[in-house]
Order: sequence, then structure tokens, then C-alpha cells
Amino acid sequence: MSDFQDRVVLITGASAGIGAALAREFGRKGAKLILLARRIDRLKELATEIDPTSDRVLTFACDVTKEEDLETAVNFARQHFGKIDMTIANAGWSLKGDLQELKVSDYERLWNTNVFGVLRTIYATLDALKQSRGKLAIVGSVKSYIALAGDSPYSMSKFALRALCESLSQELAADGVSVIHICPGYVATEIRQIDNRGIWDEDSLDPISPRLMMSADEAAKQIIQAIDRGQKELVMSNYGKLVVWLKCYTPWLISWLISIFKIKVKS
Ligand code: NAP
Repeated sequence: MSDFQDRVVLITGASAGIGAALAREFGRKGAKLILLARRIDRLKELATEIDPTSDRVLTFACDVTKEEDLETAVNFARQHFGKIDMTIANAGWSLKGDLQELKVSDYERLWNTNVFGVLRTIYATLDALKQSRGKLAIVGSVKSYIALAGDSPYSMSKFALRALCESLSQELAADGVSVIHICPGYVATEIRQIDNRGIWDEDSLDPISPRLMMSADEAAKQIIQAIDRGQKELVMSNYGKLVVWLKCYTPWLISWLISIFKIKVKS
């Protein structure tokens, strides 16, 4: 029996990418799941795939920009399962562009999901996590450490999550709630097919070379292993680890490399 057998795990952004892969992997390990996202049809399909017979998976149409969606889902799920052992605040998207092409409202829209959506998720589940002395996983990025030109809204949001993790891991220790900061490198998901309005174009090509991308399944396995080991942070992929190391110990070198190679995120 794995450590996750009958653990109750709540995942936001479970309809695609890393969140869906986490749901499958936790499902294989015997966890009970609370899956949240706006696209309920996808969640229902996923629930049937994970567990066609029993009621081990609950799904909710939930927009993390709406506090009431989270509260309704969490209240129902707590009554149904009796507890929540783990919250994975994963829902997020990316909006790109140079500052001069964007407006404050663009930053606000992104932050409403990536930062305030994470906060709403935490507020909605914190009582339950305190009761279970559970775990809180927050999905940041390698970009929680490094910001490139053309990417300030997204990197700002992920830097903010790193600060949140650092504060909360201290604040919540007394309540027995442990916090893990997850920093994926490039993962093959839908995130780069979503435009600045938040609309998904399944025909658009991911600009990142497949050689640099990890599969969502591999990402989920690494995340679950890190949670299981009680890590406080997981930086994923070899180049992700290298970038974070360089940024922390030789920041001048990484700034020089960025300027020499004119590295920029294209919008
Ligand atoms: P994805 O395939 O686009 O999945 C994003 C998920 O977030 C979807 O399930 C989407 O569901 C959900 N979501 C977006 N806005 C939401 C909202 N307002 N309310 C509820 N759910 C919402 O992207 P992904 O790559 O798996 O991203 C997951 C996390 O990993 C994000 O936080 C992202 O920043 C982070 N990350 C990804 C990469 C990468 O290369 N893929 C790298 C570093 C970090 P609905 O549209 O159905 O609501």
C-alpha cells in the first residue's frame, strides 16, 4: 500500500497538463481526488478514466478567480470525504508581452488566477489542512527565479508564489501543515497554446523545442515523489536546476548570457 492510499488530494487546474497528469498518478496510487477546473466535461472524462466504478473522484466546475466556486467545491468535498490531506494549487496560465504593449488590466487578469487564485485555494482549504496536518503544494516555475524580457506578468506572478511559499512554510509549521514549492521547467502541456485572452488554440505550435520539454506524466511522477519525501522545494529538469543555481550563485553570469544571446520570450 502506497503512502497515498485513501489520502484525499485536491487539485486545481486538473482538466489539462500537469494537473491532469497528477490526478492520474495520484489515482494510480489509490488516492481520493477532488478535481477542479472550469472545463467540467474534461474533468468528468478524466474521473471516469481514473475510476470508472466507485466514487473515489469528485469533480467540480470551478474558476479559481471566484471565491464562491472554491468554497462550494471544498465544503461539498469535505462533507463527502470527511477530510482533505493535500491541496495542490496548480491552476495557472501565461500572458506575454513587453510592458509597453500591455496594460495594468492585463497584469491584473493574470494575477487574478496565478496569484489570487492560489490564495483563494489556500483560504478555502486551510482549515481542512490544519485538521489533517496535511500538505500544501504550490506550482510555481523555474520562472519563480528568473525573469526574461517579454515575460514580466508571468514571472512576477511566479516570483510572488515563491515568496508566498517561503512565508507560509514558516507560518503554517506550527499547525503541522507543510508547504512545497514546485518549480517545473518546460513541460509539454497546453499552456503555450493559450493566447493573451486566455483562449486555447489547439492547432498552434508550441515554440519550445520538444528536446527541452518534459512530459506531463514525468513531471507528475517527480512532483509526487518530492511531496512523498517531504521536500520543501522541487526544481525540475537539469537545465532548470542549472538556471536556478546560476541565478543564485553567479547572477552576473546569467545576466551576461541573457544579454549576449538576446534571450527573450516571444509574445
Ligand atoms: P495547461 O495544460 O494549460 O493547464 C492549465 C490548467 O489550469 C487547466 O486545467 C485549466 O483548466 C486550469 N485553469 C486555468 N485558469 C483557471 C481558472 N481561472 N480557474 C480554474 N482553473 C484554471 O498548463 P500546465 O502547463 O499544466 O500548467 C499548470 C501549472 O504549471 C501552471 O501554474 C503553470 O504556470 C505551471 N508551469 C507550467 C510549465 C510548462 O511548461 N507547462 C512550466 C512551469 C510552470 P480550465 O481551462 O478547464 O479551467
